[in-house]
Amino acid sequence: MRRGRRTYGTGDGVIGGVIGGPIGAAAGRAAAGACVVMLAACAPAGTGTGAAGSATPAVSRTAPSKAPSTAPPAGPPGVMPRTGEVRPIERTGGLPPVISSIPTKRKVVFLTIDDGWEQDPGFTAQIRDQRIPVTAFAMRDAVEAKGTPDEAGGRARYVGAGKWGYFRQLRDAGVPVENHTLTHPDLRLLGRDAQRREICGAAKLIGKQVGARPTLFRPPFGVYNTDTLTAAENCGVTAVLLWTATVQPGGKIAYQVPDKRLRPGDILLMHFRPNLARDFRVLVEKIRRRGYELGNLQAYLAAARVR
Ligand SMILES: [Zn+2]
Repeated sequence: MRRGRRTYGTGDGVIGGVIGGPIGAAAGRAAAGACVVMLAACAPAGTGTGAAGSATPAVSRTAPSKAPSTAPPAGPPGVMPRTGEVRPIERTGGLPPVISSIPTKRKVVFLTIDDGWEQDPGFTAQIRDQRIPVTAFAMRDAVEAKGTPDEAGGRARYVGAGKWGYFRQLRDAGVPVENHTLTHPDLRLLGRDAQRREICGAAKLIGKQVGARPTLFRPPFGVYNTDTLTAAENCGVTAVLLWTATVQPGGKIAYQVPDKRLRPGDILLMHFRPNLARDFRVLVEKIRRRGYELGNLQAYLAAARVR
């Protein structure tokens, strides 16, 4: 089920599911147009691959029995929710909830990144070294470079470079790898069985390749119907994740809400595209300049009782 043109990012702009979560409704209508997303990096690509610590033998001289103060903090990256901060997200009709933003009043936003065409090793190093919380939604045909992405984000250099190995590196860098179908179809055009093949097939593949079965699902283009939610439920999905804003080349945020501002709990969507590291750096600086922190999505979903 291949579509003529691979969406490299621009394709994910359409939101507007049939069911639409409590938050998705408003965003859905405004979403229409382009939604490219991209983030860029912060760490200079040349700063190595995490071996810096081992290159400084003097560091242990002062306190050999204790971890030096420069040791990286343990645990998952990103801001964690405070007790009582997050309101519960309810399931609707026994199906996984559709979530466009996290119900919190804290100035925290969440970064997600879709597809998997461009596999720049510098981005992985950036995420790992700076402990930036990101959730990836992998799509098989992008990861395996079946087809040709457009060049809307610039000239590609690493299309399918590491294939699933790249996503294993992301996993090792603290990035949960979640489900974005096998072939990126408009799921509303498929019957329940075909939808199930897309979602369960990707879940199984990711489980095999990355070592952990996904529990979150992002429908291509942000569109879905009741069959999608049923299929997702059958494939082990606990929540369907949409978004409130996309990140375009250059780190520009394209809001899908009328007031054009970041809001607490926003979920930002970007894509694995060329210049990701640069755009990512711009975006992260912008978010922090506006007084927002980057949250750990999985911890916030757990606090919202999504499981
Ligand atoms: Zn996509």
